[in-house]
Formats: sequence, structure tokens, C-alpha cells
Amino acid sequence: MLRSLLSSSLFRIDLRRLILILAVMSAFVTLANSFYASYRVQRQLLIDNTLEENRVYATKLAASTEQFIKSMQKQLAYSAVIAASHFDDPAVLQSETARLKYQTDSFNSVVITNSQGKVLATSPDSLQLVGHVLTTQGALEALKERRPLISKPYISAAQNLVIVISTPVFTADGKYLGYIGGTIYLKQKSILNELLGEHFYRDGSYITVLDEDRRILYHRDPNRIGEVMPPRPMTEVVKTATNGSLMVEGAAGEMLAGYAVVPSSGWDIVTLRPTDATLKPLDGLMVKVLKHLTPLAVLTLIFVWLFSRLIARPLWLLARNANEMDNPDVSLNIRDIPSWYFESNQLKRALLIGISLLQKKIGKLKFEAQTDPMTGLFNRRGLAMTLESVAQVRQQFSVIALDIDDFKSINDSYGHDVGDEVIKSMAEQIRHNARETDILCRVGGEEFLVLLPRTALAEAEMIAERLRENVESLVLPGIRPITISLGVAHWHYLQGEPDTSLKRADEALYKAKQDGRNRVVVSLE
Ligand code: GH3
Ligand code: MG
Ligand code: MG
Repeated sequence: MLRSLLSSSLFRIDLRRLILILAVMSAFVTLANSFYASYRVQRQLLIDNTLEENRVYATKLAASTEQFIKSMQKQLAYSAVIAASHFDDPAVLQSETARLKYQTDSFNSVVITNSQGKVLATSPDSLQLVGHVLTTQGALEALKERRPLISKPYISAAQNLVIVISTPVFTADGKYLGYIGGTIYLKQKSILNELLGEHFYRDGSYITVLDEDRRILYHRDPNRIGEVMPPRPMTEVVKTATNGSLMVEGAAGEMLAGYAVVPSSGWDIVTLRPTDATLKPLDGLMVKVLKHLTPLAVLTLIFVWLFSRLIARPLWLLARNANEMDNPDVSLNIRDIPSWYFESNQLKRALLIGISLLQKKIGKLKFEAQTDPMTGLFNRRGLAMTLESVAQVRQQFSVIALDIDDFKSINDSYGHDVGDEVIKSMAEQIRHNARETDILCRVGGEEFLVLLPRTALAEAEMIAERLRENVESLVLPGIRPITISLGVAHWHYLQGEPDTSLKRADEALYKAKQDGRNRVVVSLE
């Protein structure tokens, strides 16, 4: 079943198909491989670029934030100098808080307290804190540390989540009077939100700011501000580097993050972009890659197809011709096969040598089958072949049948071996008297037949007579003289089968025997 399926031409496994399948497969694998490699490279490129973009952006934002904090600290320091020299004048202190609040627009509120934390002036007035003693985390820290500070986020006296940037107020001779603090509301409109908030929020990208304790200072979702993040690779790595980038698993899937530290506050500014959004252009890119790869792949396939034909062709032709070795033209056909590479050339040569040997062998066998081994003349089979070809070309011919007279007595007198020698000498005589074109046969023990193509009956009779005379005068050492009887006939293609002429020659021969032997009788039919 499988065998017949394989040998049918549709499913036949031939070299050309094998090469083609192999080549198509390798072309396909190469294409798929380059496509995949290109996909990986493009993907990595997009990711690397985005990571770097985010890192640069975070670094830039960190630098701006740093600058902003520095400038706020400078403003506070300047006001501290003014406040120190007018610490007992509430109006000056009040105007200074108002100036810081409204002129610089850096803070949501400004307070000046004395060294006990009692509020001396505040802006905006609506806070109504003057006279209160502040016990908030920011106030206590400022009073205790007595140096410029950036507080951690805490809930302010006015119940806002804030950070406070404060600076101490000292007299010229170094006496601590209190501090000036500017608060920034984390959950409401503030300079920090403005600085960070106006930045990119496309395709799910966002910025977040964490303090050193992983508390969220800034987030696009205000509800998360103040929340403390659990330790994550992101939050841990930022402690060891001033800026960098990495991939993180966020709540909304994988994100590409860039981060940078604000030196004066220790805050981490983190810019994040979803990996999915980053890789969105990849589809389009891959379509382009495919568009670029396809023509080359098609060209490769065409080339491979042509080339596989070229490789397979000599072998295919050799195989087909090897199937027809009995065709006499096969050698010529094989000689014409363009065997342009080593193996096909070797095969071609081997095939030609093989065929030539085979044909020689066949020729020899044919020859042997048609030849009488004792005399080297044609035998009956050889005669039949000759007659066939003569009849085919409708060639007239004459035929002489001859038989040695009283041969039995030669055998009897001298023995069988001598008899054989006589037969050989007879063959020699016939050959000697024959022309190039005559066909000589030994058709029986001591019976011979000579076919004389394109020879008229009279000429054949002359030849027969000459042969008879030659044999008669032949001297065979130690043997009595021998004679032969001959019958001659003629054939023309209008006279039916060529065999009939042989029969007539035989009849003439029989007559010659009856008429007394050692003579030529012509069949006149
Ligand atoms: P005729 O004149 O009538 O032809 O007489 P003949 O004795 O020649 O008679 P016939 O042709 O009938 O006999 C042929 C003999 O030739 C018979 C056989 O013993 C002998 N003979 C046949 N073939 C061979 C052979 O190959 N070698 C030898 N030595 N003798 C053969
Ligand atoms: Mg005989
Ligand atoms: Mg005889």
C-alpha cells in the first residue's frame, strides 16, 4: 500500500523533491529564525530605550526638585535673618510669613514659632493658629534639631498631610529664637504637584515620589499619598544608587521604571511606563520586518527551486536512461546529459562504461548464438537472422546448398576426428571462394549453405561450379579426394517467403545427389 503510494508519481520521493523539501524547510527555518531574532532585538531595543528614557526623565525631575528645595531653603534662610532682628514685632513676622506664602508661592502655609513651639505668625490667616503651641511631628523635630530640615510627611495642625521645610531662627550672637517652617500639602494643589503633575500621563505612564521610608509623597491617585509601600525590588534598589532603571511588577502588570534620588531630601522620583504600552509599536515593526523579509524569502525559494532542479536533473536523466539500457541509443542519450558536477559525472562515466561492456557482452553472446563454433560460419540461427534482414529490404539473392559426398565413408575410413578436419577444410574452401558480401553457413553435419546477396542465378551457378571444381582438385594429405554436390536457387521478393528458395536449393542438391553427385544442379522455378 505504502509502496504503491510511494511509487505513484504524485508521491514519488525523488532527489529533486527531497532537495526542494530540504531547501524549503531550511529557508523557512531561516526566515522564522530571522523573524524571531528581529522580534527579540526590536523588543529589547524598545525596552532598553524606554528604561533609559525613564531614567533620564527621573533624573531630570530629581534635579528640578532638588533645585526647588534648595531655593525654598534659601528663601526661608533669608526670612530667618529678617525675623531674627524683628522677633518681638508680630507685624514684621506676620508680613514675612505672608511674603513667603504669597510672593514665592512655594508653600501652602508658613508659620513662625518661638523656641517653645508657640505660633507667632502664620499665613494664611485662616489657619488661626497664632498663640497655639505646635506639637506636630514636624514642629517638634524642628525645635529639637535646630537646623534646616525637610520633614517626613505627617498630619498637620490643620489636619492636612504635609511635609515641612524649616529653618531655625538664631540671633546674631547665636541664641535660638524659634523656626520658620513652610508646609507643602501633599494631597492638595501644591508646588510639588505642579512640578510633577504636569508631566506625562499617556498610555498608562506615571510618576510617583517616595521618601526614604517608602512613604508615597506623590502619586497620580491622591488616595495613595501617605501610604507606605512594602519593600519591593524597586524601593530597595533606589537606596543603593542615585539613579537607574529596572523592570518592576506593578499592580497593573509589568512596568519599566526609571528612578533618581533627590539628594537634599532623600526622596526617590520614580517614572513608570507599562511594558505593554512600550511594546505596542512592536506589532507594526514586525509587519515591516516581514515585508522586508518576504521578497528575499520568495527570491531564495525561487533560486532554491531552480537550483534543486539543476542539481537533480543529471541524476534524474541518468536514472531514467539507466532504465532503458536495452535501447541501442541509450549511450548517445547518456553522453548528452549535462553532468556538471563531480558525482553526476562519475555516475555518467560509470554508466557509459557499464553499458558499453554490457552491449559488447550482448553482441558477443548474440554472435556466439549465431555462429557454429567448429567452423566459425553462421549456424541455422544466424542464417534465419540474415534471411530476415534480407527479406526486410526486399533484396534479391541466390543461394547454394552443398553437401559432402559419401561423408559417412570418410568417417568410417579415417575416424570421426579426421571427418571434423575435413569439415573445417570444407569451410575454409567455401570462405576462400566467397565474396565479402556472401553469407556462409554450416546448416548441418557436412551440409553448408551460401547466401549470395544481389546475385543473379547464372552468376551463382558459376560460383557453385567453381567451388565444386576447387573442392574436387583439393588435396587433403592422407585422405582420398573428396567431392561435393550443390543445389542453386534464386529468390526475388515477389516469390513469397525467402525460406522457399532454401527449400528449392535443397531439392536441387538432392537432385545433384541422385544424378550421381559431384555436380551442380540449378533450380529453375
Ligand atoms: P551422401 O553422398 O548421400 O551425402 O552420403 P553421405 O555419407 O555424406 O550421407 P549423409 O550426408 O546422410 O551422412 C552424413 C554423415 O556425416 C553422417 C554423420 O555420421 C556424419 N557427420 C555428421 N556430422 C558430423 C560431424 O560433425 N563430424 C563428423 N566427423 N561426422 C559427421
Ligand atoms: Mg549430409
Ligand atoms: Mg553427405
